[in-house]
Amino acid sequence: MSNCLFCKIIAGDISADKIYEDDDVLAFHDIGAQAPHHFLVIPKKHISTLNDVDDAALVGKLTLTASQIAKDFGFAENGYRVVMNCNEQGGQTVYHIHLHCLGGRQLTWPPG
Ligand code: 5GP
Ligand code: ZN
Repeated sequence: MSNCLFCKIIAGDISADKIYEDDDVLAFHDIGAQAPHHFLVIPKKHISTLNDVDDAALVGKLTLTASQIAKDFGFAENGYRVVMNCNEQGGQTVYHIHLHCLGGRQLTWPPG
């Protein structure tokens, strides 16, 4: 989608600190990190919100990509959080679905 920030990152029109990429997904560091480790995993296919998802395998792949990166970075055993914000009250600001993965500090619950 031409006016989508994350589609522009996928296309290489906007730079990002990439961690992992394959035919289906891209992972990169969040520019506004909220934890020592904070990266995003996105599908290469544009999907606006979780409400628009009909591909269970793709969402599963986002999750497995996040856990694999957490293992590779060495914080999986200590623990981490994955979250996908949906629409305004969920705190979504970029309308191309993305899984946040945060780790490297004690995370509190519930979130604000
Ligand atoms: P949301 O609020 O939609 O769940 O999360 C969007 C995330 O994208 C935010 O955590 C924000 O810091 C991140 N973000 C916004 N613009 C950019 C950018 O240009 N590059 C990167 N790497 N992250 C971005
Ligand atoms: Zn997009």
